Amino acid sequence: MFAEIIAIGSELTCGSKLDTNSQWLSRELEVLGWTVMRHTTLADDLDAIVSEFRTAVTRAQVVLITGGLGPTLDDITRDALGLAFDQRLIRDLQSLEQIEALFVARGREMPARNRRQADRPEYSDVLVNTCGTAPGILMRITSTGAAMSVTADVPDASQGCLIAVMPGVPAEMRPMFEQHVRPVLLDSGMVLRRAVIRTFGFGESDAEQLLGDLTARGRNPEVGITASEAVISLWVTARSQSVEEAERLSRETCQLVRERLGDAVYADGDDELHDVVAELLKSGNRSVALVEGAATGGQLAMWMSENATVGAVVKTAMVIPGEWDAAALRMLGVEPRAAENNHPEDWLTLATLVSETLRHNHNVDFVLVSSPFYDERLDSGVIMRRGYVAVSTVHDIQSFDVSMSGNLAIFRQRAARTALNRLRLMIKHESFLGNAG
Ligand code: AMP
Ligand code: MG
Repeated sequence: MFAEIIAIGSELTCGSKLDTNSQWLSRELEVLGWTVMRHTTLADDLDAIVSEFRTAVTRAQVVLITGGLGPTLDDITRDALGLAFDQRLIRDLQSLEQIEALFVARGREMPARNRRQADRPEYSDVLVNTCGTAPGILMRITSTGAAMSVTADVPDASQGCLIAVMPGVPAEMRPMFEQHVRPVLLDSGMVLRRAVIRTFGFGESDAEQLLGDLTARGRNPEVGITASEAVISLWVTARSQSVEEAERLSRETCQLVRERLGDAVYADGDDELHDVVAELLKSGNRSVALVEGAATGGQLAMWMSENATVGAVVKTAMVIPGEWDAAALRMLGVEPRAAENNHPEDWLTLATLVSETLRHNHNVDFVLVSSPFYDERLDSGVIMRRGYVAVSTVHDIQSFDVSMSGNLAIFRQRAARTALNRLRLMIKHESFLGNAG
């Protein structure tokens, strides 16, 4: 069963406001088992709106529309609805009374133009607005294109398309949807279950290759891949007529995804990599120290201080914003002369010295160290940013290269996640011989 959402308002198409209604409504619809196939955003233009209404009802079984219900002349959704489905507009007296009552309650005189807000196509129903002046409109278009009230009892009601028009103001639209629209959408005939699996350590196309046939179009459950801040997420969407079947299908496909992606999977659901690592450290009664050069620039400390439980596994955290000079080394408790003797130009040697000092001084099991970052202009003109992260255990230190062009914030997140992920894998495989604390 397919749904579409149409957002109306020139403030949206010109870029001064973001269409958040469509995002919110899509999530609501998906939970109810409706598959949202299209979002359309339109300026306050009568012809464009009329033509979009007419075509949308031929494609979808539900069309949700927001915006254009205000009292001003540019709000033309009501007129467009009448024109699109050959309906004259009538003034709904009950709505008019409610609008007038609202002005009385606010102690204001009602401007004449607000009367328009009580207009609706003849064959339609009013959606009461409990939070503002603009009532919404509910309407059914039959498979032959005729408009009718949703309360009318017609034999082919399920064949046509249901239209719900709601105000653009999110604070009015949401309660209206919850109170009056959701109840008529409950029977989508489908149950949808969506699960998400988070991975780190490879790109989108690698993931697709490993998943193979699982990402084929038309498969149920569907497996979708999204990438954000170097985290690849696999979205498993199962559809079925029964809850049990949808959950079983989802479980089976999630298991296949986990088998194929192996170690790269760090969490189910919304857990962040740092939460997962903190939990591993905590359950093993282990601790970590953070020494961050500009490559992560405090990103690790920021994540690891998001809550006290996560923070409890960090014994100390330091950021070196600039050069790793004598003053910076002294702050870390490292004798600068010792660093000189150890080839300070060699970052890994320095990282080793720093992490040994920290482990000794703070009695931690692990030290995460990140380097400064270095920008390099390639022949193509692209600026490549490079840095290193190291994970130091009682037994050894391993360093990993992070290179990326573009945004510094994303580079830092990638570098910080690389360090956390390596630590996660080391703990998981106990690939160190150190003391388990
Ligand atoms: P309207 O119903 O067209 O009078 O919209 C009133 C106000 O609601 C607009 O000025 C916007 O600030 C807001 N609005 C309208 N449409 C949306 C939308 N799709 N998403 C978020 N806000 C919206
Ligand atoms: Mg508007």
